[in-house]
Amino acid sequence: MREPLLEIKNLQKKYPIYGPLGKLFPPKTYHKAVSNMNLKLYEGETYGLVGESGCGKSTTGRSILGLVQPDSGEILYKGKDLTKLSDAEFRPLRRDLQMVFQDTLSSLNPRQRIGQLLEEPMIIQGMGDANERRQKVLDILKMVGLAEDHYFRYPHELSGGQVQRLGIARALIIDPKLIVCDEPVSALDVSIQSQILNMLTSLQKEMNLSLLFISHDIGVVRYISNRIGVMYLGSLVEEAETDELFANTLHPYTQALFASIPDFKKKERKVSLSGELPVYTDEFKGCVFHTRCPHACDKCRECAPELKEVIPGHKVACHLVK
Ligand code: SF4
Repeated sequence: MREPLLEIKNLQKKYPIYGPLGKLFPPKTYHKAVSNMNLKLYEGETYGLVGESGCGKSTTGRSILGLVQPDSGEILYKGKDLTKLSDAEFRPLRRDLQMVFQDTLSSLNPRQRIGQLLEEPMIIQGMGDANERRQKVLDILKMVGLAEDHYFRYPHELSGGQVQRLGIARALIIDPKLIVCDEPVSALDVSIQSQILNMLTSLQKEMNLSLLFISHDIGVVRYISNRIGVMYLGSLVEEAETDELFANTLHPYTQALFASIPDFKKKERKVSLSGELPVYTDEFKGCVFHTRCPHACDKCRECAPELKEVIPGHKVACHLVK
């Protein structure tokens, strides 16, 4: 059986909700940002994690990089539980695990030139001498479609698309195995989005990278992913290979999400998802989607369905899907 490169098991992360007097008093309750999240990512695949803002996608992605400390659960990378490692133990793995942010510019030092920004991760990882590092920076600039003379420029001189290319270059420069891409194209125009997605796809194949691609945009996720996990209120409600998910959409939330994609032939939207994500606390009972589901019954309000494999490789969490 194929071993996953990364496996997330029962990941949980809660955030406190304070009353009107803020942190003067203990939290009123806790919001479950990630709850019982399970996911496997294989070498060389792109796994798309999709869902509305606030469903826990970014918290999941950031937990992998150690940017968020989960409350419980395991994140196994090549069999090692990342949540149990000390900073010193995690440091060598940082070379394998990288992230591309939505707002790359704010994650960069504005006083550093692009050449320095790209060389810095290699210096931290003790890679090569000055000449080798300079050559690698020039090579990576070319790979991501930036010019040699960008080496001496500052990040604020770049366009939005070029900044994202720089973010990808910075993630790639130390030869990672897995990149978490957190909404990397959401702030870009559609034409630039497709250029960046095409570039990511070809770099992924060339370098045999694994990508966890996080987005609220199902169209973007469909374009780039081999498999898709649909997330709602902190956990997966459906997971399948991309073609299977679109041909055979089973969970009512996924159906509503797909129906929200504009159908340009009909020039109208079909069913839309009404209301917003509820606050998910310990007091919340039943299926996570029952407050918005058109098929919710008493059982749905009392008892949460498990994520079960209903067709080989296709998992769904819904009482109605057998
Ligand atoms: Fe809807 Fe019930 Fe299925 Fe949840 S379990 S998605 S509420 S039908």
